Amino acid sequence: MRPGSQGSIYLYMTRIRDVIDTAPVTPMRTKPAPLVDSFARRISYLRLSVTDRCDLRCTYCMPERMQFLPRKEVLSLEELHRLSLGFIERGITKIRITGGEPLVRRDIIDLFQALGRKLGDGLEELTLTTNATQLASHADALAAAGVKRINISLDTLDRARFQTLSRRDALSQVLEGIAAAKEAGLRVKLNTVAMKGVNEDELPDLIAWAHGQGHDLTLIEVMPLGEVDGDRVDHFLPLSAVRENLEKRWTLTPSEKSSGGPARYDRVEETGGMLGMITPLTNNFCAGCNRIRVTATGQLFPCLGGGEQVDLRAALRSDDPDGNLAKGLAEAMHIKPERHHFDISERGAQPAQPRHMSVTGG
Ligand code: SAM
Ligand code: SF4
Repeated sequence: MRPGSQGSIYLYMTRIRDVIDTAPVTPMRTKPAPLVDSFARRISYLRLSVTDRCDLRCTYCMPERMQFLPRKEVLSLEELHRLSLGFIERGITKIRITGGEPLVRRDIIDLFQALGRKLGDGLEELTLTTNATQLASHADALAAAGVKRINISLDTLDRARFQTLSRRDALSQVLEGIAAAKEAGLRVKLNTVAMKGVNEDELPDLIAWAHGQGHDLTLIEVMPLGEVDGDRVDHFLPLSAVRENLEKRWTLTPSEKSSGGPARYDRVEETGGMLGMITPLTNNFCAGCNRIRVTATGQLFPCLGGGEQVDLRAALRSDDPDGNLAKGLAEAMHIKPERHHFDISERGAQPAQPRHMSVTGG
């Protein structure tokens, strides 16, 4: 040890103590508590709907004459941003922007850019679900904002069938959008609603096409959400039956891969791609639920299949937004139900929930 060095340390410690002793006392900022519901599930995933509007009218999702919300009821982009920051502060690490069709909302890229700045600073993943009709013109901007993976809905590769199913002739734009996403370096997962008598016969080809393009694909059972023209019972197709059929053609090896969500994955050995299945009707997936949904009007729905809700727009627009937001989130954690109670077996029955998926945010 050099002579005098001990003295220097002593002097340094004395100075530090002086600084501590004379510093004004500021209250220690405690880190806000993470969101945990009453079944001890840690909530870390927000699906945020930015609009209930859409440029398609998928028959299982909404009627042709869908009544959309008046624009003034919808949160502004600033409010959506502020709300998201509040959620990130409470430990939400993944945000999925959805709708309706998120890319039909004007200036939506501004929100992606603003939230992209939180990546690595609380937020771990920013993503979206889209029908891809407008993706060709937004893919590069999304990638630049920090989006890495996206979900794209695609129920058929047949132009006429697409038109019947979505009531719009838009398959070519969608395929352009999917190609643009790949080109921009976005990892694409396709979502396909499996429907009896609609696209059942095409599912193997759709999976083979997706895997050939390097995209994983997840099949979804149709859910009884909101009134549509017609009865969904007619087209309900249990994925257990689809699986049986696919196993005649391919080897499906169950995979450990998990998105933390409701999908169960298999590797299709012959194609090398992953196949997910979301089976809300035939298999309950609620035990590991880590998510909440917020509509474009700021209503928080802790369960897709439940009626429980908390009005965060009122909290945001109150005199004490931070305090009321905290109260709203505490309420949401308290009322989040243990599981949903979907049932689609009864012909002519009311939907399990009156809200369309496009309103709650799919
Ligand atoms: N418009 C975007 C899209 O289609 O990807 C995002 C919103 S959309 C409501 C999200 C997902 O919900 C889509 O994959 C769609 O197929 C699915 N969906 C809509 N209504 C549904 C229903 N009743 N049952 C099952 N899935 C549904
Ligand atoms: Fe629009 Fe998506 Fe609903 Fe189809 S599923 S009508 S694309 S919101």
